[in-house]
Amino acid sequence: MTPTTPAPERPGAQQWVPPDADVDALRAAATGCRGCELWEPATQVVVSAGNPRARAVLVGEQPGDVEDRQGIPFVGPAGRLLQRALDEAGVARADVYVTNAVKHFRFEPRGNRRIHQTPELAHMVACRPWLEAEVAAVEPDVLVALGATAGKTLLGPSFRVTKERGRLEERDTVAGRRLVLPTVHPSSILRGPEEQREEAFAALVADLAVLARHLAG
Ligand code: SF4
Repeated sequence: MTPTTPAPERPGAQQWVPPDADVDALRAAATGCRGCELWEPATQVVVSAGNPRARAVLVGEQPGDVEDRQGIPFVGPAGRLLQRALDEAGVARADVYVTNAVKHFRFEPRGNRRIHQTPELAHMVACRPWLEAEVAAVEPDVLVALGATAGKTLLGPSFRVTKERGRLEERDTVAGRRLVLPTVHPSSILRGPEEQREEAFAALVADLAVLARHLAG
Protein backbone atom coordinates (compact mmCIF):
# COMPACT_ATOMS: atom_id res chain seq x y z
CA MET A 1 0.00 0.00 0.00
CA THR A 2 1.43 3.39 -0.95
CA PRO A 3 1.35 6.34 1.50
CA THR A 4 -1.22 8.05 -0.75
CA THR A 5 -3.68 5.14 -0.40
CA PRO A 6 -5.58 5.44 2.89
CA ALA A 7 -5.62 2.28 5.03
CA PRO A 8 -9.15 1.30 6.18
CA GLU A 9 -8.28 2.17 9.78
CA ARG A 10 -6.88 5.49 8.57
CA PRO A 11 -9.49 6.82 6.13
CA GLY A 12 -8.12 10.36 5.99
CA ALA A 13 -9.80 13.57 7.11
CA GLN A 14 -11.76 14.42 3.97
CA GLN A 15 -15.17 13.19 5.15
CA TRP A 16 -14.95 15.44 8.25
CA VAL A 17 -14.00 18.60 6.34
CA PRO A 18 -17.04 20.80 5.63
CA PRO A 19 -17.05 22.26 2.10
CA ASP A 20 -16.32 25.99 1.59
CA ALA A 21 -15.95 26.51 5.34
CA ASP A 22 -14.28 29.45 7.04
CA VAL A 23 -11.55 28.95 9.62
CA ASP A 24 -13.93 28.95 12.61
CA ALA A 25 -16.08 26.24 11.01
CA LEU A 26 -12.99 24.19 10.19
CA ARG A 27 -11.75 24.45 13.78
CA ALA A 28 -15.13 23.30 15.08
CA ALA A 29 -15.42 20.41 12.62
CA ALA A 30 -11.89 19.16 13.30
CA THR A 31 -12.87 18.22 16.86
CA GLY A 32 -14.74 15.25 15.39
CA CYS A 33 -12.03 14.05 13.00
CA ARG A 34 -11.21 10.35 13.11
CA GLY A 35 -9.20 10.38 9.90
CA CYS A 36 -6.31 8.54 11.50
CA GLU A 37 -5.47 6.93 14.84
CA LEU A 38 -3.71 9.98 16.31
CA TRP A 39 -6.91 11.49 17.77
CA GLU A 40 -7.29 8.76 20.36
CA PRO A 41 -4.35 9.22 22.75
CA ALA A 42 -4.20 13.00 22.23
CA THR A 43 -5.93 15.45 24.57
CA GLN A 44 -7.60 17.41 21.79
CA VAL A 45 -7.27 18.52 18.21
CA VAL A 46 -5.10 21.60 17.66
CA VAL A 47 -5.89 23.47 14.47
CA SER A 48 -4.62 27.01 14.12
CA ALA A 49 -4.12 30.51 15.49
CA GLY A 50 -3.70 33.97 14.05
CA ASN A 51 -5.44 36.13 11.52
CA PRO A 52 -7.88 34.13 9.32
CA ARG A 53 -7.28 36.77 6.62
CA ALA A 54 -3.46 36.72 6.97
CA ARG A 55 -1.18 37.13 3.96
CA ALA A 56 1.10 34.33 5.15
CA VAL A 57 0.14 30.86 6.34
CA LEU A 58 2.92 29.26 8.38
CA VAL A 59 2.76 25.48 8.48
CA GLY A 60 4.54 23.54 11.20
CA GLU A 61 4.70 19.83 11.92
CA GLN A 62 2.21 18.89 14.64
CA PRO A 63 1.21 20.15 18.09
CA GLY A 64 3.65 19.40 20.87
CA ASP A 65 3.00 18.50 24.48
CA VAL A 66 2.10 22.06 25.59
CA GLU A 67 -0.03 22.70 22.51
CA ASP A 68 -1.89 19.41 23.01
CA ARG A 69 -2.82 20.43 26.55
CA GLN A 70 -3.77 24.02 25.67
CA GLY A 71 -5.39 23.39 22.28
CA ILE A 72 -3.43 26.21 20.65
CA PRO A 73 -0.53 25.79 18.20
CA PHE A 74 2.95 27.25 18.77
CA VAL A 75 2.52 28.15 22.44
CA GLY A 76 5.40 25.97 23.66
CA PRO A 77 9.16 26.66 23.50
CA ALA A 78 9.33 26.29 19.70
CA GLY A 79 6.40 28.67 19.30
CA ARG A 80 8.07 31.28 21.46
CA LEU A 81 11.26 30.97 19.42
CA LEU A 82 9.25 31.33 16.21
CA GLN A 83 7.58 34.48 17.50
CA ARG A 84 10.97 35.95 18.42
CA ALA A 85 12.26 35.14 14.93
CA LEU A 86 9.19 36.72 13.29
CA ASP A 87 9.62 39.83 15.42
CA GLU A 88 13.32 40.10 14.54
CA ALA A 89 12.59 39.56 10.85
CA GLY A 90 9.94 42.28 10.92
CA VAL A 91 6.90 40.11 10.13
CA ALA A 92 3.78 41.63 11.72
CA ARG A 93 1.50 39.35 13.75
CA ALA A 94 -1.49 40.50 11.69
CA ASP A 95 0.17 39.04 8.58
CA VAL A 96 0.44 35.55 10.04
CA TYR A 97 -1.83 32.52 10.44
CA VAL A 98 -0.13 29.50 12.02
CA THR A 99 -1.17 25.89 11.66
CA ASN A 100 0.33 22.41 11.45
CA ALA A 101 0.51 19.69 8.83
CA VAL A 102 -0.88 17.19 11.36
CA LYS A 103 -3.49 18.34 13.87
CA HIS A 104 -3.09 15.80 16.67
CA PHE A 105 0.01 15.27 18.86
CA ARG A 106 1.84 12.06 18.01
CA PHE A 107 3.82 10.80 20.97
CA GLU A 108 5.13 7.74 22.73
CA PRO A 109 4.24 7.45 26.44
CA ARG A 110 7.33 6.86 28.58
CA GLY A 111 6.50 6.75 32.29
CA ASN A 112 4.62 9.95 32.94
CA ARG A 113 6.30 11.71 30.02
CA ARG A 114 5.06 11.96 26.44
CA ILE A 115 7.88 11.79 23.93
CA HIS A 116 7.33 13.53 20.59
CA GLN A 117 7.25 11.25 17.56
CA THR A 118 7.57 12.60 14.05
CA PRO A 119 4.40 11.92 12.06
CA GLU A 120 4.67 9.39 9.24
CA LEU A 121 3.95 10.28 5.64
CA ALA A 122 0.62 8.43 6.00
CA HIS A 123 -0.40 10.81 8.83
CA MET A 124 0.49 13.81 6.69
CA VAL A 125 -1.61 12.43 3.84
CA ALA A 126 -4.52 11.59 6.16
CA CYS A 127 -4.55 15.07 7.70
CA ARG A 128 -3.86 17.04 4.52
CA PRO A 129 -7.54 17.85 3.70
CA TRP A 130 -7.61 20.17 6.74
CA LEU A 131 -4.59 22.10 5.50
CA GLU A 132 -5.99 22.32 1.98
CA ALA A 133 -9.29 23.67 3.38
CA GLU A 134 -7.46 26.18 5.60
CA VAL A 135 -5.44 27.53 2.68
CA ALA A 136 -8.64 27.81 0.63
CA ALA A 137 -10.31 29.71 3.49
CA VAL A 138 -7.43 32.08 4.29
CA GLU A 139 -6.27 32.60 0.68
CA PRO A 140 -2.78 33.80 1.65
CA ASP A 141 -0.14 35.25 -0.67
CA VAL A 142 2.55 32.96 0.75
CA LEU A 143 2.83 29.54 2.39
CA VAL A 144 5.78 29.14 4.74
CA ALA A 145 6.82 25.51 5.27
CA LEU A 146 8.48 25.18 8.67
CA GLY A 147 10.59 22.04 8.41
CA ALA A 148 10.48 18.73 6.60
CA THR A 149 7.00 17.55 7.60
CA ALA A 150 5.37 20.77 6.40
CA GLY A 151 7.46 20.75 3.23
CA LYS A 152 6.66 17.13 2.41
CA THR A 153 2.95 17.70 3.09
CA LEU A 154 2.78 20.79 0.89
CA LEU A 155 5.27 19.90 -1.84
CA GLY A 156 5.67 16.12 -1.83
CA PRO A 157 7.98 13.52 -0.29
CA SER A 158 11.10 14.58 -2.23
CA PHE A 159 11.20 17.92 -0.36
CA ARG A 160 14.55 18.59 1.37
CA VAL A 161 14.57 21.52 3.76
CA THR A 162 18.35 21.97 3.78
CA LYS A 163 18.44 22.35 -0.03
CA GLU A 164 15.29 24.44 -0.43
CA ARG A 165 15.18 26.78 2.56
CA GLY A 166 15.11 30.54 2.11
CA ARG A 167 13.88 30.47 -1.51
CA LEU A 168 10.53 32.19 -2.12
CA GLU A 169 9.21 30.59 -5.29
CA GLU A 170 5.93 29.83 -6.99
CA ARG A 171 5.45 26.08 -6.79
CA ASP A 172 2.85 23.37 -7.24
CA THR A 173 1.46 22.52 -3.82
CA VAL A 174 -1.39 20.37 -2.52
CA ALA A 175 -3.32 23.64 -2.26
CA GLY A 176 -2.67 24.68 -5.88
CA ARG A 177 0.09 26.81 -7.39
CA ARG A 178 1.36 29.06 -4.61
CA LEU A 179 4.28 31.16 -3.50
CA VAL A 180 6.16 28.99 -1.01
CA LEU A 181 8.99 29.83 1.37
CA PRO A 182 10.57 26.81 3.07
CA THR A 183 12.63 27.16 6.21
CA VAL A 184 13.47 25.06 9.25
CA HIS A 185 11.10 24.24 12.08
CA PRO A 186 12.07 26.24 15.19
CA SER A 187 12.15 23.03 17.26
CA SER A 188 15.14 21.85 15.17
CA ILE A 189 17.08 24.81 16.58
CA LEU A 190 16.14 23.86 20.14
CA ARG A 191 17.10 20.21 19.53
CA GLY A 192 20.43 21.13 17.90
CA PRO A 193 23.76 21.65 19.66
CA GLU A 194 23.68 24.60 22.03
CA GLU A 195 26.82 26.20 20.56
CA GLN A 196 25.12 26.34 17.14
CA ARG A 197 21.80 27.78 18.30
CA GLU A 198 22.65 31.44 17.78
CA GLU A 199 23.76 30.82 14.20
CA ALA A 200 20.75 28.60 13.47
CA PHE A 201 18.39 31.22 14.88
CA ALA A 202 20.01 33.93 12.74
CA ALA A 203 19.52 31.72 9.67
CA LEU A 204 15.81 31.30 10.52
CA VAL A 205 15.47 35.08 10.91
CA ALA A 206 17.20 35.56 7.54
CA ASP A 207 14.71 33.18 5.88
CA LEU A 208 11.76 34.95 7.50
CA ALA A 209 13.18 38.32 6.42
CA VAL A 210 12.55 37.12 2.84
CA LEU A 211 8.88 36.88 3.81
CA ALA A 212 8.96 40.31 5.49
CA ARG A 213 10.42 41.91 2.36
CA HIS A 214 7.79 40.25 0.18
CA LEU A 215 4.96 41.42 2.42
CA ALA A 216 6.38 44.95 2.47
CA GLY A 217 6.79 45.06 -1.32
S1 SF4 B 1 -4.21 13.84 12.93
FE1 SF4 B 1 -5.50 14.83 11.37
S2 SF4 B 1 -6.44 13.13 10.21
FE2 SF4 B 1 -5.62 12.27 12.13
S3 SF4 B 1 -7.43 12.32 13.51
FE3 SF4 B 1 -6.22 14.20 13.84
S4 SF4 B 1 -7.17 15.75 12.55
FE4 SF4 B 1 -7.89 13.77 11.82
